[in-house]
Amino acid sequence: MNLSDEQLAFRDAIRDFAWRECGSREQREAWLDPDEEEHSTPLYTKLAEFGWLASEDHVTHTVLFEEIHRGLVPVKAIGPTTTVKGCYERFASERQREQALAEIAKGKVMAISISEPGAGSDVSAISTTAKRGGDGWIINGQKTWCSFAHIADRTLLVARTSREEKPHQGLTIFEVPSGLDGVETRRISTMGGREVNDVFYTDALLEADAVVGEIGQGFRQIMSGLDGERLLAAAVGLGLAQRALDDTLSYVKQRKQFGKPIGSFQALRHRIADLATEVECARLITYEVAARMDAGEAGISALTSMAKVKASEVAKRATLEGMQMMGGYGYATEYDMESLVRFALVVPIYAGTNEIQRDIISRSFGLR
Ligand SMILES: Cc1cc2nc3c(=O)[nH]c(=O)nc-3n(C[C@H](O)[C@H](O)[C@H](O)COP(=O)(O)OP(=O)(O)OC[C@H]3O[C@@H](n4cnc5c(N)ncnc54)[C@H](O)[C@@H]3O)c2cc1C
Repeated sequence: MNLSDEQLAFRDAIRDFAWRECGSREQREAWLDPDEEEHSTPLYTKLAEFGWLASEDHVTHTVLFEEIHRGLVPVKAIGPTTTVKGCYERFASERQREQALAEIAKGKVMAISISEPGAGSDVSAISTTAKRGGDGWIINGQKTWCSFAHIADRTLLVARTSREEKPHQGLTIFEVPSGLDGVETRRISTMGGREVNDVFYTDALLEADAVVGEIGQGFRQIMSGLDGERLLAAAVGLGLAQRALDDTLSYVKQRKQFGKPIGSFQALRHRIADLATEVECARLITYEVAARMDAGEAGISALTSMAKVKASEVAKRATLEGMQMMGGYGYATEYDMESLVRFALVVPIYAGTNEIQRDIISRSFGLR
C-alpha cells in the first residue's frame, strides 16, 4: 500500500472525525432520526461540506469507505450513491451528469434499482417494462432490494425496453426523480435494519430524456461498473473486519478470567494473530485493485472479484470470531460486535454474491 501523503492525511482526518463524532453509540444515535438507523442526513451533509465525497480516484475512495466502516459512521447510503455516481460519470448526458454530480457532491442520496423478485444474480431476467407512451416512457413492474430508495433524490432504474433474442439485450437505464406519481416504496425489514425497499411502478410516466446512456444498452452499462462496485464492497468488508479486530483486542486485554486477561490465553492469542493476518491480506488485495484501477489497467475483473470475496469473508469471520472471543458480551447489544456481525453477514451477498464472484474468478482460468 503506497498511500500518498495527501491520502494518509485524508485517512487520518476521517479516522479522527469518526472517533470524535461517532465514537460511542450515544453519539451515533444522536445523529440519526428515530426512524432511520443506517443513514444520517446531517452527518452525510457534513462529509459533503468537507469535500470528502468529491474524491475522484479509487484509492482515496477505498480509504474513505474503509475508515467510515471502521469508524461505524452511520452514512450507509454512501454505497449506492457512489455506484450511481460512477454510472453518471461513465455514460450519462452532459446535462444529466452535471446535475447529478453537483447534487451528489452536496450530500444528496441516490439509489440504484436492478434487482427484482425474479431477477437477482440473473440480471438478464429483469421484467419491469418501459414502454413509449405519453411524451415519454411508461413504467410498470416491481423492483426489490433497492437500498435507500425511501430517502433518495433520484433512482437509477434498469427496465426492459424491448424483448430481443438474448435476454440481456433490450435493457435500458432511466433516472427516476423522487416522489414520481405511480411509484410506491415499501421498506423491508432485515437483520441489518430497514435500508432496503420494494418499489412498485404502476403506469409511472417518465420524461423522454430520462434515459441514461443508450436505449437497449443497460446490461452492458451496468456490467461496466461492476469492478468499481466490488471494490467498494471489499472496502466495506475491510473496514468492518478491522473494527471487529480493534474491538476484540481492546476487550481481551481488559477482560479478566482465572486471574488473567483473557487475551493471554493461547487459544485466543493465536486466533487473534490469524485474524490480524487475514485482515492485512484483505487490505493488501483491496488496495492493490484500487491502485490498478487508478492506473487504468483493463481486464482485472477476476482480481476485483477476489478482493470482494476475500474482504467480505474476512469481515464475516472476524466479526463472528470476535463475538465468540467476547463471550456473552459479544452477543449483547451493549457492545458493537453483534451489530458488526449483522452488517458483515450481508457483504458476501450484495454487490454480486460470492458464488457469482467465484464463477468470475474460475472463468478467468478458462473453467466454465
Ligand atoms: C442489504 C441488501 C442491499 C441490496 N441493495 C441493492 C440495491 O441497492 N440495488 C439492487 O438492485 N439490488 C440490491 N440488492 C440485491 C442484491 O444484489 C441481490 O440480493 C444479489 O444480487 C443476489 O440476488 P438474490 O438475493 O435474488 O439471490 P439469488 O440470485 O436467488 O441467489 C440465491 C443463492 O443462489 C446462488 N446462485 C445464484 N445463481 C448462481 C449461479 N449461477 N452459480 C452459483 N450460485 C448461484 C447465489 O450465490 C445465492 O447463494 C441488495 C441486497 C441486500 C441483501
